[in-house]
Amino acid sequence: MNSMLNDFLQQDIMFLQGVGPKKAELLAKELSIYTIEDLLYYFPFKYIDRSVFHAIKQLNQNLAYVQIKGQFKQFSTVGEGYKKRLVAQFVDESGSIEIVWFKAVAWASKIYKKEIDYVIFGKPNFFNGKINFVHPEIEEAEKTSNVKLNATLQASYNTTEKMKKGFLTSRAISKLQENIRKSINTVIPETMSAYLVEKLKLISINEALRTIHFPENTNNIKKAEYRLKFEELFYIQLNIFKQKNNRKVNIKSYIFQHVGEYFNQFYTNNLPFELTGAQKRVLKEIRKDLGSSRHCNRLLQGDVGSGKTLVALMSMLLALDNDYQACLMAPTEILAQQHFITIQEFLKGLNIEIEILTGSSKTKKRRVLHQDLSEGKIQIIIGTHALLEDVVQFKNLGLVIIDEQHRFGVAQRARLWKKNNLPPHVIVMTATPIPRTLAMTVYGDLEMSVIDELPPGRKKIKTIHAFDSKRLGIFKFIREEIEKGRQIYIVYPLIAESEHMDYKDLEDGYESISRAFPSPKYAVSVVHGKMKAAEKEKAMQLFANGQTQIMVATTVIEVGVNVPNASVMIIESAERFGLSQLHQLRGRVGRGAEQSYCVLMTSYKLSKDSRTRIDTMVSTTDGFLIAEVDLKLRGPGDLEGTQQSGISFDLKIANLLKDSEILQHARHIANKIIEDDPKLEKEHNLLLEKQRKRLFSKKVSWGQIS
Ligand code: ADP
Ligand code: MG
Repeated sequence: MNSMLNDFLQQDIMFLQGVGPKKAELLAKELSIYTIEDLLYYFPFKYIDRSVFHAIKQLNQNLAYVQIKGQFKQFSTVGEGYKKRLVAQFVDESGSIEIVWFKAVAWASKIYKKEIDYVIFGKPNFFNGKINFVHPEIEEAEKTSNVKLNATLQASYNTTEKMKKGFLTSRAISKLQENIRKSINTVIPETMSAYLVEKLKLISINEALRTIHFPENTNNIKKAEYRLKFEELFYIQLNIFKQKNNRKVNIKSYIFQHVGEYFNQFYTNNLPFELTGAQKRVLKEIRKDLGSSRHCNRLLQGDVGSGKTLVALMSMLLALDNDYQACLMAPTEILAQQHFITIQEFLKGLNIEIEILTGSSKTKKRRVLHQDLSEGKIQIIIGTHALLEDVVQFKNLGLVIIDEQHRFGVAQRARLWKKNNLPPHVIVMTATPIPRTLAMTVYGDLEMSVIDELPPGRKKIKTIHAFDSKRLGIFKFIREEIEKGRQIYIVYPLIAESEHMDYKDLEDGYESISRAFPSPKYAVSVVHGKMKAAEKEKAMQLFANGQTQIMVATTVIEVGVNVPNASVMIIESAERFGLSQLHQLRGRVGRGAEQSYCVLMTSYKLSKDSRTRIDTMVSTTDGFLIAEVDLKLRGPGDLEGTQQSGISFDLKIANLLKDSEILQHARHIANKIIEDDPKLEKEHNLLLEKQRKRLFSKKVSWGQIS
């Protein structure tokens, strides 16, 4: 980029004409805009045809945003206290409408004058039998016609209430964009190689940036949007492929050459059932990785109950067959315990040294464990975060399995890499399915395996939505199930901001459950996050052994717990849970041969999103479908796992859901380029590399350190 232009664009936004310290602070706080370039890349979310004015008489509440032109006739302050508002009569030739302000009342009554033509832009509401506008955008008609750069289409920018109070309306932003344009006064140089721009029939970056803010017609907007969306997604993909390739070439790991005694013995003597097709396929993929000198860094996705543990175990046996140690790390003590028990059971008679290390392991035992691990006496170690500590040293660690990756931070994962001379192979298991489009961007530089098939003979879980008033009926149903010998989970919400509240909910719940299911006929376990690990353990164990029939819990039981005899999952205040959490919780049942049920209890008052979540849960058990809905509801930035990814999700113009076709295309092109020029050092790709670095040099690659 031309250096003078670059200097200008990198300047603090405060120095742009029309922006002072106050507005600069607002832009930074509200929109994370710090430089002039940031503002240039702040795009409108829609365009208004400024040549069209509605007649006031024709307004109705079904219309979207419209524009009217007329004059204020009268201002009056109405109501008291928080209901105090300013109401103005605004008229054109056809009729009159009320304009209402609840905030900035004094300011609005001062600034707007009678007998001057104004253009008002807003959404018609229906209130008290009349149509009104609340807090619309208002501008003197004279000023609107002064805009030179665009004739009819006016860009509309998202603004916040705080910005509007600070005079940073959508119009004001448009003016600032004009100021940038005027100051640039030259052609903005290309940000993609010429051959690509030509081959892909893209318009120039200069034209795209001008058109997106000041379009001449709708057709041009489309071209500008396409160019900018493509570019945004393309560079993310280019970065992903380059790093992935870099990892392939540069990061070596141990080669597990042969399939030996342990694996074969297990397969012929110990495996209690036939592997599913998906398990076989995934194992093949993993074996291929482990058998090459390439470092394996694989994400293993599989819905709850799809049998990931077994795949993990068999991969660990491959490590053992090649004289390496393996470890399996779980996010909670309970899970680690359960894995330990399951795996010991699976490995009976195989003469494999397997141990467990968690936060509650006794000091004395720990010392022995550390010793045995470093001497290689222990072949498989299962544990929690305790495994990450520096005192934990291996003789020859070859494979690390991480269960439920989203509970681990990036830094923690990085510590695992240092447990041997070369980084050990890593397999990360997750039961939170990741939608395809998201997987391509967030986890793009990890290899991915998917177990998309459940073991045969599972009965589909029946999911029911019940309002709180139906609780007695639900209790009756619970009694019947217990009568049949089943066990029941009852889960209360855990709200991050208020653990106290969560505790109270659970406590109340426990009391009412104890009353409805009195001892000695019934026995109830409780598990919540505030209990000591040992207490939790004990309560879990009682339930797992069938000594208690009901488990009252918070979401601590969300991940991984396996009690096949539990066939009913009751979720209280289900509207307060996210979709992926609901799905995870439901996955605790349906693990045995019996018909299982999930009951979602809610109050009558449900928001639209809560409604969608509940309906989705009732209508499907497909984790991938649920993940797609979750992505639509929450947007990618909020999905579990993405925050740690190091990739920023505030995409400026592309939308992972709506633009998945552009994403695929961009991905295809980026992949081709890296295949042909892995280091991006060929002359025609130098610009691409420069821009890639500019965009991503500050960011962490998830794949590099997971
Ligand atoms: P998840 O993927 O949720 O971790 P698990 O590994 O806990 O699932 O497996 C769920 C249950 O299914 C376990 O009881 C496991 O023994 C059983 N299982 C795993 N693979 C198979 C299979 N191929 N056939 C039958 N049951 C299986
Ligand atoms: Mg599991």
